[in-house]
Amino acid sequence: MGHPMISKSAIADLPAPAPRSGDSATLAADIIERLTYSIGKDAKVAKPHDWMTATILVIRDRVIDRWMASTRKTYEDGSKRVYYLSLEFLIGRLTRDAVSNLEMLDEVREALQSLGVDFDAVAALEPDAALGNGGLGRLAACFMESMATVDIPAYGYGIRYVHGLFKQQMSDGWQVELPETWLSHGNPWEFPRRESAYEIGFGGSVDTIGNGSDETQRCIWKPQERMIAVAYDTPVVGWRAKRVNTLRLWTAQPIDPILLDAFNAGDHIGALRESNKAEALARVLYPADQTPAGQELRLRQEYFFSSASLQDILRRHLQQYGDLRTLPDKVAIQLNDTHPAVSVAELMRLLIDVHRMEFDPAWDITRKTFSYTNHTLLPEALESWPVPLFERLLPRHMQLVYAINAKVLRQARKERGYDEGQIRSVSLIDEGGERRVRMGNLAFIGSHSINGVSALHTDLMKQTVFSDLHGLYPDRINNKTNGITPRRWLMQCNPELFKLIREAIGDDFMDDAEALSALGKFADDTEFRTRFAAVKRENKIKLSNLVARRMGIRVDPSALFDIQIKRIHEYKRQLLNIIEAVALYDQIRSHPELDWTPRVKFFAGKAAPSYHNAKLIIKLANDIARVINNDPSVRGLLKIAFIPNYNVSLAEIMVPAADLSEQISTAGMEASGTGNMKFALNGALTIGTLDGANVEIKECVGDDNIIIFGLTAAEVAERRATGHDPRGIIESSPELSQALTAIASGVFSPDDRNRYGDLIAGLYDHDWFMVAADFDAYAQAQRQVDSLWVDEEAWYRRTILNTARVGWFSSDRTIRQYAKEIWKAGP
Ligand SMILES: *Cc1c(COP(=O)(O)O)cnc(C)c1O
Repeated sequence: MGHPMISKSAIADLPAPAPRSGDSATLAADIIERLTYSIGKDAKVAKPHDWMTATILVIRDRVIDRWMASTRKTYEDGSKRVYYLSLEFLIGRLTRDAVSNLEMLDEVREALQSLGVDFDAVAALEPDAALGNGGLGRLAACFMESMATVDIPAYGYGIRYVHGLFKQQMSDGWQVELPETWLSHGNPWEFPRRESAYEIGFGGSVDTIGNGSDETQRCIWKPQERMIAVAYDTPVVGWRAKRVNTLRLWTAQPIDPILLDAFNAGDHIGALRESNKAEALARVLYPADQTPAGQELRLRQEYFFSSASLQDILRRHLQQYGDLRTLPDKVAIQLNDTHPAVSVAELMRLLIDVHRMEFDPAWDITRKTFSYTNHTLLPEALESWPVPLFERLLPRHMQLVYAINAKVLRQARKERGYDEGQIRSVSLIDEGGERRVRMGNLAFIGSHSINGVSALHTDLMKQTVFSDLHGLYPDRINNKTNGITPRRWLMQCNPELFKLIREAIGDDFMDDAEALSALGKFADDTEFRTRFAAVKRENKIKLSNLVARRMGIRVDPSALFDIQIKRIHEYKRQLLNIIEAVALYDQIRSHPELDWTPRVKFFAGKAAPSYHNAKLIIKLANDIARVINNDPSVRGLLKIAFIPNYNVSLAEIMVPAADLSEQISTAGMEASGTGNMKFALNGALTIGTLDGANVEIKECVGDDNIIIFGLTAAEVAERRATGHDPRGIIESSPELSQALTAIASGVFSPDDRNRYGDLIAGLYDHDWFMVAADFDAYAQAQRQVDSLWVDEEAWYRRTILNTARVGWFSSDRTIRQYAKEIWKAGP
């Protein structure tokens, strides 16, 4: 580590900087100082954005003190490090999170107030970092915060996309995608680490040295194309700032010498091409969600960040311990889905080709080090790459995949007596049609632990996608039900509810979400219920103001707020919700004499730009909203609002305002869901199917406090296998027929009467997602919700019990389980 310019003895004598004070007067003085000396602005002319940057820099100093202490401690006590590899981190805004976890919210607020600046306004200026698509990326963000909270030395590794998930605008009700530019004003939260840079290769050829067998020959990969991965670090503050961990995101830069050679040779265009190629790599997040992005660039991104992360991990381990054989004792690497699965082959390459290890010990280390989280059973979402593409980009890794495969298949045949059908299913190569490398199988075979993300999903994993691999390695599959961080998803997004709970049950739940159970006895306390309802009402007023301001839609805060926010996907069945709205609209008009429950249906979510039906469903929601919202015969009893540009910040406003949480996926298709947990924690009742974590939420909150409907996963599988008759189902349901006929005949799309013809025809024809099959049960469940809503006392009793009973879904609990059962790390 030494450098001739730096004298060790001089460093030893340097006084450590005094930790920065957190009192409001010091904070205020520091903010002015930063404004002046870091930003170069006089307070008198500073723009809101300058105040934001100065504030972040001052908070950041307080974080750094604890960050360095955490890093030092890990180095000194030799504890095991956890590395969370994820192509997505949906972190949202960081400032409130950091201040709140430092427990300096009041002081920072006061400091800014003394300068005439409003903290909430400053915090709202921070761009929402959307380096992810949805649940998988948000899980990674919650996990980062929880790992710091439960004091696990951890690094998140990912890509620093210049453009995060696209910004969604509505144009005449259609989704339009605009580029997202979160870095355009700089990012005061990140630190470039130019010294942490690694070379990443692509293509080229492999030279073989020696004449050993396939498994022992030594190879030198000569990549044809090379670039540099450079690290940017963002601190992640745990609750009460006990520990601060690092989120390390990689960016790609061209290799300077090549660039200069070309440039000096007069090939200016060629030089630029190299530089553009490198920069293109980290430019965009793939906006696909649960569909494979079949682009070469995607595989390049996956390899790029896997290789950079592994080189960094090995460097750190060698620097501290000097021997890679101890890697599994000191390092656990979690693969978040298959996106980093190529890491399995990359670690083998590094161990064998660079660090001169034999194949077998390298394989042993690899499996002991990696573990893999599966997030989906959808066959179309299980990643695989055409063999020719994989071989062209990663020729050495292709050899290693073949060598690993040979070993595993031999064992499967010999030790387990696997037949050819089973061999085909466990192979790393899909031989049916175009040959492809299966990343799910690679991640499975290269890991000692494979976990699902809810009890149901883990069971289905054993029965379906990985059944033959499970037979081969029966102790590897385990369950870790997802969780959410209660800091962001209760304390910060719902401060009034947080305060109310604290007054009722004290502070224990702040360090142990399961202590929320003490709230249970207040469910029968009339005064508490009234206050709980008042908090909900205030949150609903805030959301009402937002839709009035942004969309010009006026809604009544005393109506039932029914919310479905998540990626738009057919399996999540926003269509079921929309069709039910049309049916309800018909009913309200046909029976004006009845006492209808006033309801506002809110939607938000993005559709993958290439996902035709999902985009059409957004347009349908908007078409229906326009008609219903403007029909005086509904008398405001039903309103619909699709709020554009769903992201973490919008979720933080919508979740606390919900009375009803829509979790209505086709059973067996949602691996876990985490939106469901956020809503229950904030006192909404769930209407949902027995899917993902809904099953476990039901067990926690009790059958009386959740509304479950529809086919079970087993029934869905059965119908799909034996074929079902959606036309018959539709024709025997007058409400459904009427709603579908109205939509298909253009009642809501007079400008293009055929717009929804094909979408609705799909329901009559195959109804793959069981929208028709579940419609009557869903509509009936909604009428049951209406009747529950009428008894206000009983409603709030139920919502309080939801909040009281879902503490188990804290990501602290999830992370403790990973640490104990998979990583063998942490306190
Ligand atoms: C929690 C969250 C999700 C996941 O929602 P699901 O309902 O589980 O699909 C997606 N996007 C954002 C912004 C979130 O906060």
